[in-house]
Amino acid sequence: MLKLRLDEFYVVFTDASSDLSWKSTNTEKAFESWKKLRKSLELEKLKVAYLAQIHSNIIRKVERAGFQGPGDGLYTFKPNIGLVVFTADCIPLALVHKKRGFISILHCGWRPLAKGIIERLNDILKEHSISPEECQAFLGPCIGECCYTVGEDLKLVFPEYAFITDSGKLKMSLQRITIQELTKIGVRKIEAFDMCTYCSDNFFSYRRDRTKKRQIGLIIKKG
Ligand SMILES: [Zn+2]
Repeated sequence: MLKLRLDEFYVVFTDASSDLSWKSTNTEKAFESWKKLRKSLELEKLKVAYLAQIHSNIIRKVERAGFQGPGDGLYTFKPNIGLVVFTADCIPLALVHKKRGFISILHCGWRPLAKGIIERLNDILKEHSISPEECQAFLGPCIGECCYTVGEDLKLVFPEYAFITDSGKLKMSLQRITIQELTKIGVRKIEAFDMCTYCSDNFFSYRRDRTKKRQIGLIIKKG
């Protein structure tokens, strides 16, 4: 598990040592994993906000914990609510503006990226007069360019992106596209974790195993 702390803000990316999906093949074990996570964060009363992820560009404002409806991003100014996305190959992207107490988390697969989820995030930052330059972004583990083989059609979806061809196969990096999109809207402080969820047994990978198990990306401001 990767745990980062910026003063009162915490960003967490879990791995295959804990399955946190409520839709898991082993729900009881998943609840046990949540219990352990709360303890390790010293947040025994941790409440989280989560979505029915649908590979969209929908980002929802969170006022209270619990289910937020369909979508692929969350944001809030409220402390003590953990914003969560579930992933198994897609990128969990956490963003914080420390001074304003703004936190956000996005589920970035190729579809949300193609539908402009980062531009939607930019709209929200603008709405609240938050400078992207002052935000810090964290990109969690995802499927790497090493393993992410895609179809030629994605060249049309991401015309500005430089694809690579390896052994005759077209490869794409979700991480590089996400960084490219963040840079476009003015986010400069970007920390990305170079770990491929497909190569490494330390992570759940949907592409590799068609698993229902999920790791999470979580961001919270402790109040
Ligand atoms: Zn790989």
